[in-house]
Amino acid sequence: MNNAFEEAKPVIQTLQAHGYEAFFVGGAVRDSLLNRPIGDVDIATSARPEEVQAIFTKVIPIGIDHGTVMVRYDKQSYEVTTYRVEAEYNDYRHPDEVQFVKDIRDDLSRRDFTMNAIAMNIEGNLIDPFNGREAISLHTIKTVGNAHTRFSEDPLRMMRALRFVSQLGFHLSEETWHAIQQNASLLTHIAVERNAVELEKLVQGTFAHQAWNLLVDSKIGHYLPVFKNDPSMMQKCKELSWIPLDDLSEAIAVFHILYPTLSIDQWAKEWKLSNQQKRKAALLADMIHQYDKASMAWLVYQLHEENLAAFERIAHLLSLEGEEWKYENTMRIYTRLPIYSKQQLAISGLELKEWFHPTPPGPWMKRFLHRLEHAVVTEELPNDREAMKEKVLEWSQREES
Ligand code: ATP
Ligand code: MG
Repeated sequence: MNNAFEEAKPVIQTLQAHGYEAFFVGGAVRDSLLNRPIGDVDIATSARPEEVQAIFTKVIPIGIDHGTVMVRYDKQSYEVTTYRVEAEYNDYRHPDEVQFVKDIRDDLSRRDFTMNAIAMNIEGNLIDPFNGREAISLHTIKTVGNAHTRFSEDPLRMMRALRFVSQLGFHLSEETWHAIQQNASLLTHIAVERNAVELEKLVQGTFAHQAWNLLVDSKIGHYLPVFKNDPSMMQKCKELSWIPLDDLSEAIAVFHILYPTLSIDQWAKEWKLSNQQKRKAALLADMIHQYDKASMAWLVYQLHEENLAAFERIAHLLSLEGEEWKYENTMRIYTRLPIYSKQQLAISGLELKEWFHPTPPGPWMKRFLHRLEHAVVTEELPNDREAMKEKVLEWSQREES
């Protein structure tokens, strides 16, 4: 059994010692059957959330109303969720209430796809009432129960289906595919944040190209933020050379480049990116625009080491000309940069003030500092006080004449 399961075994054993049932469930079971690296290990139990809280010393009630408690054990965190079924879905968002149940099989029946509805005990034996293992071996994504019903209960499952296509390279069962085409419009009821989580996983997948084909063909794009205003955008995305991206901000940078009528701010607002994600998207898009126009040193300087790989990914996706965007090249340039930030310039505003005394400080200072920064980075000037002084005086004379 995978090491992550071994590490989590004591959590299940503790629950059992208190007279409850507990199983591994969800993505980790699926991925281990696929021999893929497993993510978070999730546990389903017959114990009620308050009972789980009473048993373990380190617990965080992260979703107590829905039966989920985070258990910290041996430096790891596990989501421990009480067997439950979901009552009425009235607004397509969240079930109105959950009902705790006694039987793991009932819990498995509320799960989205058969491949995700398998429970495994600590001996590695499976409870697989919906033939999830068979679906996995056939590489099929298939809803538990009637696809139409399951998607109308929670339309997010349609986006989940497509992100699993992207992650796993599986295909959709015929029924599941037809139900997505019929129910795509229900996605408008889903909160942007939830769709964004799935879109991010979709752009991180190895088979994103396949997923984009389905996004276009199912018309799901007609019901997603921004794309809904012009579904032809999706078509453009479909034609990109998809490779796994790191996060949604990289995808947003690409979308903006393909569709510049909408600013990064607007893209970020519609998809509810954090400020940090927005800044990353803006920087990447800006650098793609500067590619070919600015010197590579200046580009690489602005990107910083941490964004060089992202820049390569985006350039690849957009099939940018040349080889200069390749990480190998940008990293080589990066290691040879004369400075890595404005603070490393041999002078600051203080010197400028001194040299131009009695001219009062003003926007001119920022302008000159910026020009100096550029000149040093691109090695037009050495990072040297005297050379800079000479240059700045020359610039100011030219500006005056
Ligand atoms: P990943 O490896 O990307 O985390 P995952 O399958 O674990 O994939 P999660 O979003 O972590 O996906 O959800 C854990 C499990 O909860 C799923 O495997 C599935 O059984 C169930 N699940 C999650 N979201 C839904 C949903 N919207 N409807 C029904 N079941 C769901
Ligand atoms: Mg998971």
